[in-house]
Amino acid sequence: MLDYHTEVSELPLMYVLTESTDAMWMADANCLDSPDELFMAASGKAQGYQAKRVCKACVVREQCLEYALLNRLELGVFGGMNERERRLEKYKRRREAKKES
Ligand code: SF4
Repeated sequence: MLDYHTEVSELPLMYVLTESTDAMWMADANCLDSPDELFMAASGKAQGYQAKRVCKACVVREQCLEYALLNRLELGVFGGMNERERRLEKYKRRREAKKES
């Protein structure tokens, strides 16, 4: 059982892609009991449709997306977005930041 005292090394593979130790939000992840393959093999035909369904009801979706963007996770579904959608999100954010400066 995962909780707020869970070590990063105990987390499912999909989260152990960086050396980040800020893992508290991960204990609330909706996907903890889902197979890693569902999220990491998401670049196929369905564009991670099944994984995104799990993300849709996840209470830490925002944190997960920020984690993926900050750590430049290129593959898989994080925060309800596949890799293509995250690239687009990064592009949008850069464009908005330029407008504001
Ligand atoms: S948003 Fe999706 S990938 Fe991220 S923790 Fe929640 S269920 Fe998992």
